[in-house]
Amino acid sequence: MDSVARHILDLSRRGLLRGATAMAALAATRPVFAQRVVPMPVFQSDPFPLGVASGDPWPDGVVIWTQLSQDPLGDGGMPPAALELRWEVAEDEGFTRIAARGAALAKPELNHSLRVEVTGLRPSATYHYRFIAGGAASPVGRTRTAPAPNARPARMRFVSAGCQHYEQGLFTAWRHVAGEPDLDFVFHYGDYIYERGASVGRSGNFPAIRSHNSPEVRTLEAYRRRYALYQLDPDLRAAHHAHPFLMSFDDHEVENNWASVTSGRGTPPEQLALRKAAAFQAWYEAMPLRPSQVPQGPDILAHRGFQWGTLASVSVLDTRSFRDDQPCGDGVKPACDEVLNPAAHVLGPAQEAWLFGRLAQAEAVWSILAQQVMMMRRDVGGADAEDHPRYDMDKWDAYPAARARLLNHVRQARVPNLTVLTGDIHTAWAGTLRPDYDRDGPAVGVEFVSTSMSSAGDGREIWAGPQRALDRNPHIAFFNGRRGYTLIEADERRMETRFRAVPYVSRPGAPLEDRARFMVEAGRAELIRVG
Ligand code: FE
Ligand code: CA
Repeated sequence: MDSVARHILDLSRRGLLRGATAMAALAATRPVFAQRVVPMPVFQSDPFPLGVASGDPWPDGVVIWTQLSQDPLGDGGMPPAALELRWEVAEDEGFTRIAARGAALAKPELNHSLRVEVTGLRPSATYHYRFIAGGAASPVGRTRTAPAPNARPARMRFVSAGCQHYEQGLFTAWRHVAGEPDLDFVFHYGDYIYERGASVGRSGNFPAIRSHNSPEVRTLEAYRRRYALYQLDPDLRAAHHAHPFLMSFDDHEVENNWASVTSGRGTPPEQLALRKAAAFQAWYEAMPLRPSQVPQGPDILAHRGFQWGTLASVSVLDTRSFRDDQPCGDGVKPACDEVLNPAAHVLGPAQEAWLFGRLAQAEAVWSILAQQVMMMRRDVGGADAEDHPRYDMDKWDAYPAARARLLNHVRQARVPNLTVLTGDIHTAWAGTLRPDYDRDGPAVGVEFVSTSMSSAGDGREIWAGPQRALDRNPHIAFFNGRRGYTLIEADERRMETRFRAVPYVSRPGAPLEDRARFMVEAGRAELIRVG
């Protein structure tokens, strides 16, 4: 079976697992004649203040997104009716060579956001797209399709980024991502918004250089306005305009350190479910996602597979929705007995089986897992008790049985060139992945942990805590505590990873600097520092 068929089968299997999702996908792709569609109003201001975005590139098409608004930080200011927009995808920026065009409805149920699954495009091709509402045209976005399933692309080039606290730093690094030439995609590992209320002076442990627009967000309306606040940032918009994104989420799209049905802050499950339903609807509305991902109440399917010809398979994972509650209580602590639970799950049984199947069938050179929380062991020790291992109970370290299942599967199934992309901890790390860190077995993969785009302020190069972790964990090769992102370029023989940094986010104009470059040769799970 070719990869496209397999990909579609992946999706339809998921649809079978959840018939409601398949029904929603059908409903979302057919015109809704029952809905009242009113003539496009005369806008008092640009109706596209939130810009455009694209995502989920496949060989034959991509999702394009926009949202109509006259009052993005208020109630949207749109009539309570469906509005029909036109959209165009062209081979050139001047829109003289149109590749696809159509009309679609922006509906009040989705806050007048709109996503179109464009099909019929050529593989491995760059396109430009825009929306037209009455006499108003949106900004023009650039996007790119994936290679054909059996194509042998000479190379791929992409960014892994996320964690963009609005109060704690400017989005200068997003401006630099926008300027990266020829990216195939940007993987966003989540923490696209942060849910906490407006700060004055200090935001958590960091200076607040700007403020959130409301108290802590808990309702659909509040989440919507929080996304709008972030997406009004011109640097973030520029990155969306420049590249397609593979979107995923982490904890702060809902609330800090939530796990499946368990709140990180003691909220009862039935109340967390309401909050998740609001949070995921707002996330879905704001993102260039396939209509089949429309949330079903508090549930959303965010794990999905992508294929980059014979060069890479990319599996986007959801490490929040199906995991067991963090053991031993949240936080950094010595491992308690709960950590030894052999049935512990980070992915949940269904997602784990899906991933194991994908990995066992992987034929591409690079097997990329695009996920959220650190997978490699990181014993951080402690300043007060140097000899006692301590682990962060929100990471794979808290679920060692789940990690061993995955990495043993990788070894036994001879999964080629496992490369794990991670975020979440607001600092950059690189290391190797081993099924058993207590015995000196061979590494089966490498992990690149991106720092944050803005969360945790200007940062520092290194300090005592991470230095202790480097000393205690010989498989960890690199640390940096500045803001920025990871740029990866791969061909059939090697992968080069750059840790790109901005030296400050507390004032505008930071330059882009490289903190390290690592080379991985295909066939060897080994990090070679080359810069
Ligand atoms: Fe974060
Ligand atoms: Ca996080």
